[in-house]
Amino acid sequence: MDNTSQLRPWSQLLMTGLAVSLVSGCVTQQTEQKRQWIRAAEANLTHEYAKQRYQQVQDVSYQLALSLSKNKPDYTGEVKVDFTWQPGKQPLTLDFVGGQVNSMQVNGKPVKAAYNNWFIKLPANQLKTGRNQVIVQYSHPYSKDGAGLHRFIDPKDGKAYLHTQLQPYDGNKLFPQFDQPNLKATYQLTVDAPVEWQVVTAERESAIERLSSAQQRWHFPRSARFSTYIISLHAGPYQIWEDNSDTPPLRLMARPSMANYVDAEEWFKLTRHGMTFFQDYFGLDYPYAKYDQLIVPEFNAGGMENVAAVTYSERYLTRGKVTRELRQSRANVILHELAHMWFGDLVTADWWNGLWLNESFATYMAHLAMNQYPEYQDSWLRFYSRIKLWAYEEDELVTTHPIEVKVVDTNNAFTHFDGITYGKGAAVLKQLAHYLGPDNFQQGVHNYLKQYAGRNTQLEDFFNSLAAASKQNLTPWVRQWLRTAGVNTISARYQCKNNKISEFDIVQQASNKYPVYRTQRVLVGLYYDKGKQLKSAKQIPVTYLGEVTPVSTVVGRPCPAFTFVNVEDWGYSKVALDAHSENYIKRHLSRITDPLLRSMVWQSQWDQVMAAKLSLTDYLPWALKQLPLENNEMIVRQVVTNLQESYDYLAVLHEKELAIFGPQLENLAWQQLTKARPGSDWQALWFEAFIHFTHTPAGLAKVEDILALKRRIAGLAIDQDLRWQLVVKLNEYAIPSAAQWINQELSRDSSDRAERQALLAKAIQPQTKTKQYWLEQLWGNSNLTLQEQRSLVEGLFPTSQFTLSANYADQIVGQLNLLKEKDSRFKSTYSRLLPKLCQPENVVRLRTALTNLEFNSPVVQKRLKIAIQQEERCVAISQRIKEKNRQQL
Ligand SMILES: [Zn+2]
Repeated sequence: MDNTSQLRPWSQLLMTGLAVSLVSGCVTQQTEQKRQWIRAAEANLTHEYAKQRYQQVQDVSYQLALSLSKNKPDYTGEVKVDFTWQPGKQPLTLDFVGGQVNSMQVNGKPVKAAYNNWFIKLPANQLKTGRNQVIVQYSHPYSKDGAGLHRFIDPKDGKAYLHTQLQPYDGNKLFPQFDQPNLKATYQLTVDAPVEWQVVTAERESAIERLSSAQQRWHFPRSARFSTYIISLHAGPYQIWEDNSDTPPLRLMARPSMANYVDAEEWFKLTRHGMTFFQDYFGLDYPYAKYDQLIVPEFNAGGMENVAAVTYSERYLTRGKVTRELRQSRANVILHELAHMWFGDLVTADWWNGLWLNESFATYMAHLAMNQYPEYQDSWLRFYSRIKLWAYEEDELVTTHPIEVKVVDTNNAFTHFDGITYGKGAAVLKQLAHYLGPDNFQQGVHNYLKQYAGRNTQLEDFFNSLAAASKQNLTPWVRQWLRTAGVNTISARYQCKNNKISEFDIVQQASNKYPVYRTQRVLVGLYYDKGKQLKSAKQIPVTYLGEVTPVSTVVGRPCPAFTFVNVEDWGYSKVALDAHSENYIKRHLSRITDPLLRSMVWQSQWDQVMAAKLSLTDYLPWALKQLPLENNEMIVRQVVTNLQESYDYLAVLHEKELAIFGPQLENLAWQQLTKARPGSDWQALWFEAFIHFTHTPAGLAKVEDILALKRRIAGLAIDQDLRWQLVVKLNEYAIPSAAQWINQELSRDSSDRAERQALLAKAIQPQTKTKQYWLEQLWGNSNLTLQEQRSLVEGLFPTSQFTLSANYADQIVGQLNLLKEKDSRFKSTYSRLLPKLCQPENVVRLRTALTNLEFNSPVVQKRLKIAIQQEERCVAISQRIKEKNRQQL
């Protein structure tokens, strides 16, 4: 959806105005202004208004004094906003969502604030052309949903922790401001806080002044100039680790109750690696004076690139075994946020349509930097199995969109944090670097950052820099890759005569919905069977275009046993195997020695299941046979994810098949787990899979025995985080002792994690009255934090309880229209409950709900569309299974 409905009243008024002026011949300036007022009273900023405001305002600086406390529900502040103004077409407003204005002055004169809960309208007659100062004294509640200034109380020790999360449009909850990325400003903060607290923002404090025995005042120097969504304020009795071994000085912080699980040394080592790598790659010093990183409770995303004060989720801390998988995902987020300090923070997109480039670039750079870290040289395998698969999946949804889209307002920016923005964008940057040559790409990036340091840019600026550095015209590339949606599939089509290749083409397919052929540079691999291994001939670089690209250079070579047209994964394209290669890997997948290639081949089979070309019941026996031969952990994770999905598909509607494959999956996990080297990551991985697949009475009895410490698996420590997973499992299947386990674990574990896990375990119990109770709590209990709401949603309707969830389908869908009054985060969370029943009737139910939705919400609409498509896909997969069964009869 776009914002046509929001703009309509304005354009109608404008037309009326025009008609009036034709009749009367004149319109006063005041009525003109009224007619053109384009700001709706809501927590949203339109690009249209932001552009008009940009014309009026420049050279902004904020001086902010805040008073924070542990127990009061609100914080208070005073902000002085200095800016240069010139009259424009729109009344000037300061954004300020959900607060209270206590008093206000404009250029030294007290004025009555024209405040509507969303923004403050500044009186035009008090503003003057040139410099102005507005002072606002205000208060604002702390948030519980992670947006704005969030407050968390640690249930373990009662200590309070604050952090901000302001992207894309929540900076104005911290203080009244011009909250748009192209009105960069400087910030000078003074913060009153309890004496035991640390206070962290973009600068290190210049002084701490004692105010009383309980309070002190932190003074911070004026910051560099940057956008409002990346200023930050974090406070609380954080524990601090420091590393001053080099410049800039590094600090890492976490709350003391999680401190035992922080590996600060490794964190610093990776940060230093990133600093060196990026300074070298970008050819520019780190742009700020210090670099702080905080691991904060109840953080909604993975990390956030606040200038010099980055925040991370506590999901990167475990109370159990630290696997390589966890360390690598941590390395990824550390490098991702660090890359943003240059790309995003120093140079910033003018508006949220540039979000994709910001996120894609950081995603790509993180993997490039990881690849240069000795331990993570397999980062491109991770890139494929995580980032690209996410992108392909999202690009085949009905909600896909071109990488570059018009973002009409900040509400829409919110829905664009998706697999296209992060994944596809990053994948096409990887392709672009390959296409232009890595040195040209790097030179273009350097030129861009140097030229635009401290400023805002349009998308063209980036591509113009790359075009100049590589001396290439990128206009066709930009059109093909950024302005059209959808993913192509490529395959090899070849003939052999006398065991020699006589013809070889790359064939490109486009979807019906997006009939676009694209150009890119890939490597084609021909492989020959040498007994236990498959050997590669020298790979052949090919730039393909259009539907068919002949590859004449391979004609005359020996006929291969296996062929792949995107070796090393440079291209953004799905690969369909030719019949000969398909036949080969059905028997000999494990002979492929390159893990990245094997990962892509595994995926080619799963793609066919998802497209309902291959019956799930044909895929499963093959996968179950091949998986025990797979020795790469990342690939096992990838395949286990597909098997989990397979299990979920079977659990709905396919009793007979579930009875066959369900126990096989459970057994596979158990066998692999018991065979694994004690204490290994491999063991941890298969234990997680075992927990997921367990559903038989025998399996659940094992779970209970493990929890009760009656059964031990050598080398496997059942830590508190794992104990909760087991408790949830027992509750999912209503094992008689299940509820007691919740109480028992709560008595051992008083952390916030325990509280959320207990909620999940309670909500997952398969009784009607339980579901009803927790649905009502989710909807009406205003004391729940967003994280707690998410736990409830996760627990309410697992696939194993699909008959129960069918009973609630009407109620859940029926309540959608009542979401109108809820904020976008709740809307998003609630929409995760949309019923998944694998039934044509449910498709109709969801379609009707989409048609009848009485309000405009990009988030809810997107979730409904995806739910419809996933239902349709499930029905198709289900029919494919039935078709196969009929054929066998
Ligand atoms: Zn990012």
